[in-house]
Amino acid sequence: MRSQHSKNVGPSDILLPSRGVKTLTCPHCWTAQRTERDFCCRCGAAFRYLDEERGARVG
Ligand SMILES: [Zn+2]
Repeated sequence: MRSQHSKNVGPSDILLPSRGVKTLTCPHCWTAQRTERDFCCRCGAAFRYLDEERGARVG
C-alpha cells in the first residue's frame, strides 16, 4: 500500500467559511490571499470552503 502522500498538499487543510469575500488571511502563515485560490501561494496550505464542502448554495 502507498502512504497518503500527495504532490500538492501543503501543511494542512484550512477550513474557511466562505469564498464570498475577495481576500482572506492564511491562518498558517498570515499572508493575504485571494479567495479565488484553492491553496496558499506561500505555505501551500489547502483552502477548503465550508459552503462548498456541503455542496449547497448559500445566499
Ligand atoms: Zn499560508
